[in-house]
Amino acid sequence: MKRTPPPPPAAPASAVGGPVGRRCSCGAADHVEAHASGPAIERSYRELTGDRLGLAAVAALARSGDPRACQVITAAATLLGRVLGGAANLLDPDVIVIAGGVSRLGPLLLGPLRLAYRADALPGPRRAPIRLAALTDRAGLVGAGLTALPPAP
Ligand SMILES: [Zn+2]
Repeated sequence: MKRTPPPPPAAPASAVGGPVGRRCSCGAADHVEAHASGPAIERSYRELTGDRLGLAAVAALARSGDPRACQVITAAATLLGRVLGGAANLLDPDVIVIAGGVSRLGPLLLGPLRLAYRADALPGPRRAPIRLAALTDRAGLVGAGLTALPPAP
């Protein structure tokens, strides 16, 4: 009896059907960080325009109405919102806090992120407020420092 060969491996795909093929800083492919972090937005802008700008410069262009800067930020925010919506459907959080360098985008990030989140989250989790971390890109370091402290007596 002739055996049917196994199907070829599926092409990599992001969890929400977004862009594919980007290597994440951890080495895996297409993690959210590879598409929706500050460096990822810088990369998207560079790939779209050929210009190598930092996140603050891309944000300044977006605030002035530059359509390509708006496009890359909106795409990242939308992806992040969709991923968070799916995660919230599993975890039903009371609040979602956005930290890291990307949080410095403020309303540029939160507007499209909230739209995508609300579209994907179920009615219960949909009510969770989405806020920016007060410590922005220092939140991870502060959290790591607090974790390293000995437990209180
Ligand atoms: Zn990763």
